[in-house]
Amino acid sequence: MAADRLSRIRNTLGAIPDFPKAGILFRDIFPVLRDAEVFKDLNEEIFEASKSYPDVECVVGLESRGFLFGPILAQKLSVPFVPIRKKGKLPGELISQTYELEYGTDCCEIQKGSVSKGQKVLIIDDLLATGGTMKAACDLLEKLEADIVLCLCIIELTGLKGKSKIDKPFKSLITFD
Ligand code: AMP
Repeated sequence: MAADRLSRIRNTLGAIPDFPKAGILFRDIFPVLRDAEVFKDLNEEIFEASKSYPDVECVVGLESRGFLFGPILAQKLSVPFVPIRKKGKLPGELISQTYELEYGTDCCEIQKGSVSKGQKVLIIDDLLATGGTMKAACDLLEKLEADIVLCLCIIELTGLKGKSKIDKPFKSLITFD
C-alpha cells in the first residue's frame, strides 16, 4: 500500500531539464499538488513518516516548498507550524544564519521566540540536494537550542551526498541518483 502510494507520487513528479540553469534537472513537486488524490497520498506518507518520531512539538518548514506540506503536517499532529525564510522576508525580531552556496553566501531567518529551548522540532522541505539549506536550518535551530528530532524531505538526490552534511536524524520518501 505505502509502496504503491510512493510509486504513484514518484510517477507524478515532474522533471524539467536545465532549470533554473543549464545542467540542473529540476524535480517539480507541483504536478503532485494538481492531483488531489496523489497530494492526499503524499500528505499521508509524510504523516506516516513523522509517526516514528512521536514527540514532535513543532513543525518547521523551509522556504518555499516546505510551506506546502509543513502546515498540513502540523495540523495533523496538532502542533504549531513555524517558517524559516530567506533574509528580508520575515517581520519582527529575527535570528539569522548565513550559509555557503556554490558561488557566494545566503542567509535564512526565523522569528525570535517562535521555537523554544528544548522544543522537539521536525524540519520539512521538498527536496535535499547538496544539503546546504537543511544544514543551515539545523544550525539556526541549534542557536535557539531546539531539539531537532527529524529532518524530513520528500525527495533526496542521493548522488549529491547532502545527507552527509546533516548530523540529525534524516528521512526522505523518494530518492533519485
Ligand atoms: P540544497 O541546499 O542544495 O540541498 O538545495 C535544496 C533546496 O533547493 C530545496 O529547498 C529545493 O527546493 C531546491 N532544489 C535544489 N535542487 C533542486 C532540484 N534539482 N529540483 C528541485 N528543487 C531543487
